[in-house]
Amino acid sequence: MAPEQEISIDKWHIQTIAVHAGYNSESKEGDIMQPIHLSTTFQRNQDGTLNEFIYSRSGNPNRDAVETKIAAIEGGAEAFAFSSGMAAINALFENVLEPGSHIIIPDDCYHGTRNLVDKFFRRWKVDFSEVDMTEIKNVLAVIKPATKLIWMETPSNPQLKICDITALATIANQHKITIACDNTFATPLFQKPLDMGVDYVMHSSTKFFSGHSDVLGGVLVVKEKTTVSERLREYQQIAGAVPSPFDCWLLNRSLSTFPIRVPLQCSNAMALAQHLLQQNKIEKVFYPGLPSHLNHSIAAKQMKGGFGSILSILVKGNKEDTLHFAGRLKIFKHATSLGGVESLVEHRRTAEGAHPISPDNLLRISVGIEHIDDLLNDISQALE
Ligand code: PLP
Repeated sequence: MAPEQEISIDKWHIQTIAVHAGYNSESKEGDIMQPIHLSTTFQRNQDGTLNEFIYSRSGNPNRDAVETKIAAIEGGAEAFAFSSGMAAINALFENVLEPGSHIIIPDDCYHGTRNLVDKFFRRWKVDFSEVDMTEIKNVLAVIKPATKLIWMETPSNPQLKICDITALATIANQHKITIACDNTFATPLFQKPLDMGVDYVMHSSTKFFSGHSDVLGGVLVVKEKTTVSERLREYQQIAGAVPSPFDCWLLNRSLSTFPIRVPLQCSNAMALAQHLLQQNKIEKVFYPGLPSHLNHSIAAKQMKGGFGSILSILVKGNKEDTLHFAGRLKIFKHATSLGGVESLVEHRRTAEGAHPISPDNLLRISVGIEHIDDLLNDISQALE
């Protein structure tokens, strides 16, 4: 095809990007799928000059391919892959915050993110405010001159709270504060924070991007290349919390089916949420797709095509009743993590450690791709 006839990647649909972005075989073998480049080091030219890759911590063809694909999926200028979601969050915090900075985080955010700020950034004298970000006024009330970062998580983990991304991005912009969003739960299939004024998006790629509960990873995506993004690249290469070539390869492969796995998980979640709502042994269902959800109208405004596949429930009764229900499930396994093809439940309070935020009777549910009738029957038999 002549260059002027080529369809540029930003015109592709997410399904096409997920299959094709990042790797274009030019090898003499003509591999359709990218091979795994295990070599940690790469040969120099005869005159000693360097080629594209030097040493695997600095860069590797598999990492390069997966970063290109994720940047295109999320609609960002560049992506940075890390060995876990927490490593990605830490990289951003280390490069945006300074000693004495102030950060605003949601009161219902992944406990690991809170732990990072509380246990480690405290040593840098970083101050933090935990606020209910569903109300803009709560964020405005804690902004101070030292505020350097607003960290959003929407939907939040585990109560599925929704904050208004555009409104918060506008406030951040007005106050010249960096704003970032943990987009792990929503995924770029349903929510594109970079298009709503956010500077950085983060994913635990361990979850929906990997989708099979067999790869640990994290990724940051920047809206545009800046001096901070240059520093992030340098930080990634120097600090070295990078994923292995095999993990990048697995992630790249999993991403190809991400746009067909996640809509199914999402429609299963909606059906399950509606079913749970009818059960008299269930006290409450938190799912942003339900009109009864406190922030449903904001979710409907900013999430396009679905509300994700994570929900939480309050079981009528105490901790023992809740654990008993979780233990009786046969298809849903009681385990941590989320976003895989298999359905999981988790008693969050047990997982949250020293600073629990979840009630004793809360179970978080990650809905997989199993047949919905089997999932509903499993819930019914466990509730009996
Ligand atoms: N963000 C959210 C919303 C999460 O649920 C998690 C992990 O559960 C993380 C970040 C951290 O990711 P990882 O476990 O890949 O380090």
